[in-house]
Amino acid sequence: MNDKKHLLFMQKALRQAELALKKKEVPVGALVVDSQGNILGRGYNKIEKTGCQASHAEVIAIKKACKKRGDWRLDDCWIYVTLEPCLMCFGLIQLSRIKRVVFGATSELFGAGLGDIVSGNIDSYKKFYKNNLIIKGGLKEKESVDILKEFFKTIRKKRKVRGEAKIKVLRKGSGEVVKTQK
Ligand SMILES: [Zn+2]
Repeated sequence: MNDKKHLLFMQKALRQAELALKKKEVPVGALVVDSQGNILGRGYNKIEKTGCQASHAEVIAIKKACKKRGDWRLDDCWIYVTLEPCLMCFGLIQLSRIKRVVFGATSELFGAGLGDIVSGNIDSYKKFYKNNLIIKGGLKEKESVDILKEFFKTIRKKRKVRGEAKIKVLRKGSGEVVKTQK
């Protein structure tokens, strides 16, 4: 798998993130691809839809890949994800024996610390991977960050609108001035 292919698959992962954005989910997309370049599974965040944090893009893509393959072992596969996997997803990636991870943006808040691996500090992961771990970060990073920014900008705007509406309603009903956090 060369860099051109990586970028192509990251573009497809971004398309999944766009689908999440349309459905008002945190826009993260993932793709599981086998060594021949066949896409086994696609996924985007469905946290709001399912009402559960277990529905991350990677989990959905891996579940689909296992179903398509008829096996939980994804040894030869690559996973492409627009945001650095969290600990839960990286746990699932490891248990599924995926040794090749390509991600876009780094997640300082919830990321599994894959940046350390990219920079060569792989001690904490040797238990699982020995010597054959490949992690690439920062592919399509700008696009991956931009779509997240777009989502959170909309969320902030909506909160502001809701806050103002709340003040109006309270004033109308009680005749009192109500202070609301913006
Ligand atoms: Zn996750």
